[in-house]
Amino acid sequence: SDSFYHHLESRLTANPDRIVLTMSGQSLTGAALLQATARRAAALIAMGVGPGGRVVVQAEKSLELVLLYLAVLRIGAVYVPLNTSYRPAEIAYFIDDAQPRLFVCDPADIAVHAPLAARTGTAIHGLDRDGSGSFADAIPADTPASPAIPRMAHNLAAIVYTSGTTGRSKGAMISHGNLHANAQALIATWQITADDVLLHALPLFHIHGLFIALNTTLLAGGRTDMLPTFEASQVIDKLGGATLFMGVPTYYTRLLADPRLTPAIAAPIRLFICGSAPLTPQTFDAFQARTGDTIVERYGMSECGIICSNPVDGPRIAGSVGPPLPGVEVRIADNASKGVLEVRGDSVFSGYWRQPEKTAAEFRADGFFSTGDLATIDSGGIVRIVGREKDMIICGGLNVYPKEIEELIDAMPGVAEAAVIGLPHPDFGEAVCAVVRLDPAEPRPTPATIITALKLDLAGFKVPKAIFIVDELPRNAMAKVQKAALRARYANHFE
Ligand code: ATP
Ligand code: MG
Repeated sequence: SDSFYHHLESRLTANPDRIVLTMSGQSLTGAALLQATARRAAALIAMGVGPGGRVVVQAEKSLELVLLYLAVLRIGAVYVPLNTSYRPAEIAYFIDDAQPRLFVCDPADIAVHAPLAARTGTAIHGLDRDGSGSFADAIPADTPASPAIPRMAHNLAAIVYTSGTTGRSKGAMISHGNLHANAQALIATWQITADDVLLHALPLFHIHGLFIALNTTLLAGGRTDMLPTFEASQVIDKLGGATLFMGVPTYYTRLLADPRLTPAIAAPIRLFICGSAPLTPQTFDAFQARTGDTIVERYGMSECGIICSNPVDGPRIAGSVGPPLPGVEVRIADNASKGVLEVRGDSVFSGYWRQPEKTAAEFRADGFFSTGDLATIDSGGIVRIVGREKDMIICGGLNVYPKEIEELIDAMPGVAEAAVIGLPHPDFGEAVCAVVRLDPAEPRPTPATIITALKLDLAGFKVPKAIFIVDELPRNAMAKVQKAALRARYANHFE
């Protein structure tokens, strides 16, 4: 069998007494984890879930949630995690789309979702942050004798809904082979061993926390030490017991805001890894200056897992995401020097769930997938992400890449961060505009001083026609700036 679960099982069985998962004072050895998973798998089967059946899960992070995830893989069913901040109206879209056999949610939400579950013929169970709920009540006391269900590499393991940054979330169909290939490539790239301990502060509903962080560490035989949420002070308290830390860029800016972050505090960590959104050179430099550690920035997406990473041995370059992982090929569409990045490899998904036209539109005839991210690749094979195709602004017929302007504004004294967007404009079609958050501690630039400074470095058509100063940029759970929300907020500015 090529089930990702079988690969995990062989790894954990080889060292059954090692602790592989801990949270809130509880810990599980490899053997205990497998046994607990087998009991949850029996509960799922009793609920009528079988191979290929979808299990949609919206639940707070817990040890029990990890066991439920692994149990779904064990029986060959399909795991469908949902962001815990989605509201009932949004959940309805995902349930209608995924057509699950079972929906597991916060026990407090069962009453709200019951009509939807009844309408779609979905069983519904509760799982609370402490592991309690009707799902836990259904777990048998005895470990079943039945082995894990065999799966082929191409069989579906998960449907991961994309973050919805550029439009409606799409369900990416992820196979057992995709999971295994990416976890293996990451173990090799980041040199992860059974001696590693990952301090895990990420949510479990996104590929970052679930696949990149958890799958990889489990498959390496290492230990995952889970925190319920990211809290800078808690992370600082626990860095001493870990060797790896993974986060989104906001985690690093919040760690830097805590005066307790020092070289001594950071010393036990072998690798600080960052991704899911662009890491600014300012944060990269500040972290290096403060701790002596150079953040390993990597790049990935729901559809492909991790595509590129800066190296463990070798230069880590600010603003770059490094070369592709072993087994992954990248190229720029149409052989351009700057353009849409295309990817091919064993970790790349097979298509969007129930969207054959969208799938066909995003795959080239030779199997490369079009990421929608704009990139350059230098002669050494190092990839730089320069923006998203959908964020590119066309002003008076000329292409403007927001990132080029954002980098200049970000580097100005008194600026915390900037997001550059295109707004509808009667003359230009789209006008370049910047939304800027100022740094409270420093002298505060004005829109006029920012524009004057930009005119020194940019052609006139790239200089923002309006600058909006804000207290906060809207971000989602994975730290991505919600540019669609910004475009909507200022849509009528030039009318
Ligand atoms: P949707 O596809 O629904 O619009 P999304 O693309 O944000 O949402 P995800 O799959 O969660 O959903 O995110 C993948 C995207 O995150 C990538 O396509 C890329 O734009 C961005 N990303 C991830 N890592 C990096 C990085 N290191 N630098 C820049 N961008 C990154
Ligand atoms: Mg995407």
